Amino acid sequence: MEIKRIGIVGAGQMGNGIAHVCALSGYDVVLSDINEDQIKSALGTIQHNLSRQVVRGAITEADREDTLRRINGTTLLDDLSDVDLAIEAATEDEQVKRSIYADLCPVLRPEAILATNTSSISITRLASSSDRPERFMGLHFMNPVPVMQLVELIRGIATDDDTFETLQGVVKHMGKTAAYSEDFPAFIVNRILLPMINEAVYTLYEGVGTVEAIDTAMKLGANHPMGPLQLGDFIGLDTCLSIMHVLYEGLADSKYRPCPLLVKYVEAGWLGRKTQRGFYDYRGDVPVPTR
Ligand code: NAD
Repeated sequence: MEIKRIGIVGAGQMGNGIAHVCALSGYDVVLSDINEDQIKSALGTIQHNLSRQVVRGAITEADREDTLRRINGTTLLDDLSDVDLAIEAATEDEQVKRSIYADLCPVLRPEAILATNTSSISITRLASSSDRPERFMGLHFMNPVPVMQLVELIRGIATDDDTFETLQGVVKHMGKTAAYSEDFPAFIVNRILLPMINEAVYTLYEGVGTVEAIDTAMKLGANHPMGPLQLGDFIGLDTCLSIMHVLYEGLADSKYRPCPLLVKYVEAGWLGRKTQRGFYDYRGDVPVPTR
């Protein structure tokens, strides 16, 4: 199947990055969200990030203009009626995703493919709540999307070969590299990454080290480009907690229990960079540890 027009549901951190990369690769993009402010802020972020690419010499000014022209923002799911592929990138909550599919599927063309950017939730279970499990798949981009090379491809039990091959082609067309994961909780990257972040929060909770000590230790001691608490803030602590719940419930193993301190930060609404406060406070010129 040929993909020309892509709809994205959810214009948060991931939705704006996915829209950026899709439009830069030549696809027409409809970017939707229930929250109009999120769309405005996503379009601002895309403009800013494209300008940085122009300054770095990665793209031309004409590429930037063409890319922006190809993206339209909307709060109406009806505007996705003519897309060939819809990518859902809304909040990591199974009920939210299910209710989106209930509203979106009747709007989509019957032959359109529906993909989810979920970080952890079962593709087979999400697919079964859509009207098209054969044309449903996991297409898991990494954050920040314009920078990160990997996209995980996850088939549900019913995903057909045509859908898989079409999305393989889309990933290739975007110049990204695909890694194939079986449909188990949190797939490959987050199955390994999130327990490390959760363990870093336990290390803080038990007083083994401060925020600064833990991040410095892992940056300089394990050669990670970002400390695990900084990375948790970057991903979003609500998303981190949701992924830990999916691992804990899906694999029924106590080693995945979410750290109570992570729960406390989420309950406080301190979700990391996107709310300006998490393990660091981002409201000033430089991030300041909150513990
Ligand atoms: P986010 O909180 O930044 O954005 C979520 C967006 O979904 C918000 O703009 C919200 O308004 C919107 N939304 C909520 N309900 C909606 C609805 N009913 N209809 C339309 N839009 C709705 O979250 P994010 O970090 O962009 O994550 C989005 C998805 O991508 C999640 O499934 C997450 O697990 C996945 N993901 C996140 C990362 C990461 O590092 N943050 C990486 C890979 C994948």
